[in-house]
Amino acid sequence: MSATATYNFQGKTILITGGAGEIGKATAHRFAANGATIVLLDINEIGLAEVAEGLKDKACGNPVYTVRCDVTDAKEVTDMVAIAVEQVGQLDYVFNNAGYQGAFAKTDEYPEEDFQKVIDINVVGVFHILKAAARQLRKTGGGAIVNMASHAGVDGPPNMLAYAASKFAVIGMTQTAAKDLAPYGIRVNALSPSLIGPGFMWTRQTELQAGVGSQYFDADPKVVEQQMIDSVPLRRLGSLEEVANGVAFLMSDEASYITGFNLDITGGQ
Ligand code: NAD
Repeated sequence: MSATATYNFQGKTILITGGAGEIGKATAHRFAANGATIVLLDINEIGLAEVAEGLKDKACGNPVYTVRCDVTDAKEVTDMVAIAVEQVGQLDYVFNNAGYQGAFAKTDEYPEEDFQKVIDINVVGVFHILKAAARQLRKTGGGAIVNMASHAGVDGPPNMLAYAASKFAVIGMTQTAAKDLAPYGIRVNALSPSLIGPGFMWTRQTELQAGVGSQYFDADPKVVEQQMIDSVPLRRLGSLEEVANGVAFLMSDEASYITGFNLDITGGQ
């Protein structure tokens, strides 16, 4: 699928959380190329500025907005989403994507503090954005939300206890929110990529899985990479662009009767 054609998002505005990260950036490029106005939200101010700069020439003349916000802070989310909407004038789509992969450790060794951090960002943060998005989209007659889950929220991988818990929760929230928000014309879907790369999360997970010393992965990250790719029926990683294509489809009018759905992007896993 081309990154420049297929969907028409002219006149639409998308808020992308985790907008300074790799999937956020790829999705911003995908939507900008299809005419959307982009609002990037992230806790990483420097990263936001870099992604916005890279989008300048690709945004079809539309401005690119950035919002520094910690999704774990309910008040900050409420305030910053309101300020962003006031600036932009409208909101049509929300990609609820900010997330944290957490520690890699066996269940009996999983660090308490990190478990809490993963839940705070991936569950509580997703809830805050979902609530703020729902309130905003209700006011203007509807829209679409895509929550970023993971294949780890469908089939828990070894050594990722908190991450699996958090992404199962995202899929549950998606199903309930889809029912709750359907009367207001708001569709809510989830996206569950599996092995995506190259990128920060891919490198991090191969290195950390290698370090755990479990029966599932080798101690050499290069071997772990191959072990993981061998577990994919299509025998390759999914690309950041393929994830962005999934977001574009779920937001688009082509998906107008799809809500409460989890789109697994796994290469057949
Ligand atoms: P990334 O680390 O490049 O991006 C994550 C972004 O979230 C970062 O920019 C980070 O600053 C931001 N963030 C973290 N905590 C935040 C907070 N409290 N408030 C605001 N922003 C915060 O990773 P990515 O690969 O782009 O991942 C994006 C999403 O996709 C995550 O939810 C991740 O769990 C999910 N995912 C990624 C993969 C993958 O292989 N890359 C696979 C499945 C799911």
